Amino acid sequence: MTALLDQFIAAFGADMVSMATEAYLGEPRGHYISAPRPLLRPRTVDEVSAIVRFCNELSVGVVPYGGGTGLVGGQVYDGDRPCIILSLERMNALRGIYPDESVMVVEAGVILADAQGYADAHDRLFPLSLAAEGSCRIGGNLATNAGGVQVLRYGNARDLCLGVEAVLPDGSIHHGLRRLRKDNTGYDLRNLLIGSEGSLGVITAASLKLFPKPREVSTALLALENPAVAIDILGRLNTQLDGVISAFELIGRAGFEFVAEQMPHIRQPFAQVPEWAVLVQAASGTGSNVEARMMQALTTEIERGSVQDAVIAQSIAQADALWELRETIPEANRAIGAIASHDVSIPISRIPEFIETMPAVLARIGDVRINCFGHLGDGNLHYNIFPPWGAHKSDFADQRAAFSAAIHDKVAALGGSISAEHGVGRLKARALLRYGDGAKLAAMRAIKAALDPQNIMNPDAVVAKED
Ligand SMILES: Cc1cc2nc3c(=O)[nH]c(=O)nc-3n(C[C@H](O)[C@H](O)[C@H](O)COP(=O)(O)OP(=O)(O)OC[C@H]3O[C@@H](n4cnc5c(N)ncnc54)[C@H](O)[C@@H]3O)c2cc1C
Repeated sequence: MTALLDQFIAAFGADMVSMATEAYLGEPRGHYISAPRPLLRPRTVDEVSAIVRFCNELSVGVVPYGGGTGLVGGQVYDGDRPCIILSLERMNALRGIYPDESVMVVEAGVILADAQGYADAHDRLFPLSLAAEGSCRIGGNLATNAGGVQVLRYGNARDLCLGVEAVLPDGSIHHGLRRLRKDNTGYDLRNLLIGSEGSLGVITAASLKLFPKPREVSTALLALENPAVAIDILGRLNTQLDGVISAFELIGRAGFEFVAEQMPHIRQPFAQVPEWAVLVQAASGTGSNVEARMMQALTTEIERGSVQDAVIAQSIAQADALWELRETIPEANRAIGAIASHDVSIPISRIPEFIETMPAVLARIGDVRINCFGHLGDGNLHYNIFPPWGAHKSDFADQRAAFSAAIHDKVAALGGSISAEHGVGRLKARALLRYGDGAKLAAMRAIKAALDPQNIMNPDAVVAKED
């Protein structure tokens, strides 16, 4: 490894090249750990191009690295092939903001929360929002096609991107940083690179869509009997509020209990923990009366008996407290230690069947606790399973694969996807071989071989070798 480090220092200098510290070698869930590797931190697209070209000549792997918050191990190569880690952290400039066009152009290393701040400073909204927004970076968000809590209204990262600048595996630069909303000039490299998780190239900058800032926001937490009721309510609220629902997040009993157990300082909103709850947010412009209309719609729901209890935020601080509860669930999960985590999407009308039938299927494999929560409005559930009280996740190491197979089999049977928003990375690359569409997998392999014949870009991620 030192020989590789010396080779890169000789080529690019000690300011750009160092040995990666531990922070770059692991990931949030602790499944993947990389051996020590050279870390390269370029400042310009030309430097990225030179590094990738050099790696291609030497057949050295390149693992692009954003904020390191990815949940499927895409940013951590744990194999034996010589590889470098390419961090975009120094490419963190706002290249331009065009409020009249509702567009901003940022480099890939910009932290998501900073990108939101740039838009805000120009009285615009950049709506991508997720709990890791203080650490994840725009390049990583696009590479994973991140979702988050406002997909229902604004779409995922792909929907928010107008163009990308990227370095392809041979070192060539794709100058696709257009600010155009219409551009039908053949194959769409931008859409190929978005969601490719670093397996086809390095995204170095992006032009992103901005939106008017909502002036009126209403946030409420509703206690409900079951997810089927939640889905009915979503349909009615959307009609009554003219489609301005921006978030509709499901929280199960375990979500409340896990947060109470691990973060007792976080205020529990209900005196009695509900079986299910949804966090609803509606947002619109001045004069839209969103708060009054939400109140009216929820009063009707309470009267018809579909809502058992409701907390309607009366201030920004109260709304933030409700969001804090929702966004703390992943942290509570990590503290308890999941046996296996799943990020699935299912056609919305079939979600109740999934949630009702899975516990009995899993109980046949082992005695576990389930924390099911997520972006119900997008049909996206985080379905994580935990050991019972007093046990440890390591006690279930032998059953882990069986739990995941049972969950993914059911998702596939219902016409769903085994990765809704986190991507494939290394964690799901083999599962994709089993659940992915054959023709799509063949096309993915052909594209990978055509663009990256030496397989330098993020080896073993997304496209797994067949047995
Ligand atoms: C607490 C928490 C909450 C989360 N919530 C959500 C959520 O609600 N929705 C959601 O979708 N995800 C969520 N995630 C997952 C994660 O935050 C996202 O996947 C995020 O988009 C990753 O960005 P990153 O900069 O951290 O990327 P990294 O983790 O550094 O990398 C992720 C992948 O992208 C590749 N990559 C990174 N930068 C580039 C680049 N410039 N060019 C090409 N490839 C690149 C890497 O090689 C890797 O394969 C959450 C994670 C955490 C820890």
